Amino acid sequence: MISKIKKIAVFTSGGDSPGMNAAIRSVVRTCAYLQIECIGVYRGYEGLVEGDFKPLGARSVNNIINKGGTILKSARSDAFRTKEGRKRAYDNLVTNTIDAFVVIGGDGSFTGAMIFNKEYNFPVMGIPGTIDNDIFGTTYTLGFDTALNTAVEVIDKIRDTASSHNRLFFVEVMGRDVGHIALNAGVGAGAEEILIPEENLGLERLLESLKRSKKSGKSSSIVIVAEGDKTGKNVFELKEYVEEHLPIYDVRVSVLGHMQRGGSPSCFDRVLASRMGVKAVEALLEGKSNFMVGIQDNKIILTPIEQAIKGHTKIDKELIRVSDIMST
Ligand code: ATP
Repeated sequence: MISKIKKIAVFTSGGDSPGMNAAIRSVVRTCAYLQIECIGVYRGYEGLVEGDFKPLGARSVNNIINKGGTILKSARSDAFRTKEGRKRAYDNLVTNTIDAFVVIGGDGSFTGAMIFNKEYNFPVMGIPGTIDNDIFGTTYTLGFDTALNTAVEVIDKIRDTASSHNRLFFVEVMGRDVGHIALNAGVGAGAEEILIPEENLGLERLLESLKRSKKSGKSSSIVIVAEGDKTGKNVFELKEYVEEHLPIYDVRVSVLGHMQRGGSPSCFDRVLASRMGVKAVEALLEGKSNFMVGIQDNKIILTPIEQAIKGHTKIDKELIRVSDIMST
């Protein structure tokens, strides 16, 4: 393959997610395989603006496929939001004879890449790394599967204590705008109710459902609440509301928080990251730019970054129905 692209930079940006290291490894190894140079950029766009670069060879990414977080560190960069900052980033790329970059991050990171591409006609490729699974153009983002497994493991433990004490637990999981983690982890962990940002279940229905649970002989219950659920109450207010209206329940709250972002990536995320990294490099070498790599119907595909940013992911209505049936 004869290509103008001889040196590719790779970095991680925005919130970290499990599988980012596996994606870095894949980009680096694909470059080595195709005999082009690869440069790691530390701290996302901040490192691009400051010229925080380090050459990465195939052996420099040994033993990272199983590690959470990102060896290149991640950051949010205000400087890159400015024209001057992006000019400095461009100058650093030119000085280091870098021909293209791969950014692993969320939609903010892709917006930055798209703007940069428009200003400098610089080849860019995105890999979706975020646990929220909220990026259009891919059925799965890197880290989502691991975050689900982490959440389910913890909810299983909460269930043990809930059933020992006949308690009701509200468990808050991540998801300000989307309920993919809540819905999938909720079904996977056998939750009685799942509150997500996409559907307004209503507090009345929640009370009805909890009453039904008690009547049907359930001694303990788990309700999964996404951070951005639409009841208008946070998880602690929900506890107070239920205790006030259904005093039969002894209610506890557990907020899973940042533990959902950490940990060793699942096999699914490692495989996905490996596939996406190969595609990102190959696509750049084929002269493609301004795309995000995604997976659909188990095929690795490219979506224009502009579409990936503007599009909206949809919650799986069928899974909501399954969840309703399971809570009978
Ligand atoms: P997460 O899903 O975890 O929030 P993200 O990639 O969406 O990840 P952001 O903080 O939104 O995270 O964006 C990461 C970085 O991308 C920002 O700190 C900034 O440097 C760059 N960026 C975002 N939006 C723009 C923009 N409009 N112009 C230039 N750069 C941007």
